[in-house]
Amino acid sequence: MDEKEITIGIVYLVGAGPGDPELLTLRARSLIESCDVLVYDHLANRRLHDWAPPKCERIDVGKSPGRHTMEQKEIGQILVNKAKEGLRVVRLKGGDPFVFGRCAEEMLALDEEGVSYEVVPGVTAALACAAYAGIPLSHRDFGSSISFLTGHEDVAKESLRVDFTKFSEVGGTLCIYMGMSKLEEIVEKLIVGGLPENIPAAIVSHGTLPRQKKLLAPLGDLVAQAREKNFRAPAIIFVGNSIGLSRTSTWFEQKPLLGRRIALTRASGQKSRMRAVLESLGAELLDLPLIKIHPSEDRKLIAEVFAGIATYEWIVFTSTNGAREFMKLFFRAFSDIRSFGPMRIACVGQSTADILKPYNLEIELTAKDATAESLAKDLVATDSLDSANVLVITGNRNREILIDMLEKVGHAIVDTLPVYETDFADLLDAPDFKKFQKEGADAVVFTSSSTALSYVEQAEDIVFDSDARAPILCSFGPQTTKTLESNDLPVALEASHPSLDGLCHSLVKHFTESK
Ligand code: SAH
Repeated sequence: MDEKEITIGIVYLVGAGPGDPELLTLRARSLIESCDVLVYDHLANRRLHDWAPPKCERIDVGKSPGRHTMEQKEIGQILVNKAKEGLRVVRLKGGDPFVFGRCAEEMLALDEEGVSYEVVPGVTAALACAAYAGIPLSHRDFGSSISFLTGHEDVAKESLRVDFTKFSEVGGTLCIYMGMSKLEEIVEKLIVGGLPENIPAAIVSHGTLPRQKKLLAPLGDLVAQAREKNFRAPAIIFVGNSIGLSRTSTWFEQKPLLGRRIALTRASGQKSRMRAVLESLGAELLDLPLIKIHPSEDRKLIAEVFAGIATYEWIVFTSTNGAREFMKLFFRAFSDIRSFGPMRIACVGQSTADILKPYNLEIELTAKDATAESLAKDLVATDSLDSANVLVITGNRNREILIDMLEKVGHAIVDTLPVYETDFADLLDAPDFKKFQKEGADAVVFTSSSTALSYVEQAEDIVFDSDARAPILCSFGPQTTKTLESNDLPVALEASHPSLDGLCHSLVKHFTESK
């Protein structure tokens, strides 16, 4: 090997797991978080890309049946070229890289060019599907082998490579990858080879993902039932006696929002507790940001407020964005938290309070209902506002009700400090807009009047495919409902309480009752 060719670039061939991002290994996550180039295909969950650094180059080499976006050779070449530029390249592969992942071809391409690489194993689809669908792959009474087979190696090769009649004799448990387009033929050969028609079998499609589906049936009925229930790739076909011990419904399959597609409209880039909670309930989430948040730049006003910061008796935060931006500005002006002074702190809701907690600031008041009105009422009820200086941190859309009540009912002297601006975001730029139009959703969630107004303005741009699901509109609170309904957009569901818990409770109730 020519010495000049040795570079510090490296390729990591990384197993991305079967779909659920939580099934990624720690090693895979830390490599994604630190890579310069991310090369992926459609089998790796898009949510994993969020962990890559913003400046990281992302290359989609995805292939789906009938649509070769890139030849294997080309992919190998990209990996080689990027590594030779001295970059750290992560090549994400669905499941485990060595299980029907064509990793060997990529390894050879790297070897030929003297490029260093490492392989990081991943949870392969058969094991993950079995676990999430409650399908035991072995039992000491039934056989003692587990085989991984492939229905077809390549879409270009139409014939089966594996001799399924022979595998009937192997017995044990068979886990068949890429078998859906040849299901009928596979089942026929297994039966011809000697497997009884009543041997237990199963299919799990989209395993570990919110759209996971499972079919348990004797081998002889598998084809008819799969057709009737519209099972499609990606799926694993299981055959064997231990499959007979499968659970009909698992912890995963019992998640109350499993299979529900919910579009979230808040600004993107916000670390969202809502996303995490809805996902833990099983929902598939679409990102449809309808607003953008920018920091506000009124330096003069900011300087004035900070010069008089010791004179306020209350500081009132009306949103998470406000709290976040205010703390940034605060530490730009002061280096020590003690400059915050003795002001008492009020927050519109728990998420806003959570932004301040890391600074060990005591939050004296969190509104009972997470609305501006409720915050104002609770503040007035403290009986401490008369002639008090109150600083209200806002966005550019002012909380008129709040300020009015503090001044007129509480007799406070209110200064407002806008620290961020909200603009409408273009729906066409939303990461999941195409998917939203193509597949629709069960619900669109509006967390604020601004997201609702933005939707009102852009609703005409949405053209759903004929078989897309028509979403219901859900609102976080009365104000947002009013905005939508006054624009002729009926709200099917309003959160029972304007909080994350309230929203989840209402969504779960709605969708479990409408099952
Ligand atoms: N390297 C991957 C397999 C790639 S071959 C792994 O280790 O899992 C692609 C096949 O994997 C699909 O045709 C399907 O049979 C299976 N597969 C991948 N993800 C799956 C999923 N989430 N649910 C069911 N099957 C899946």
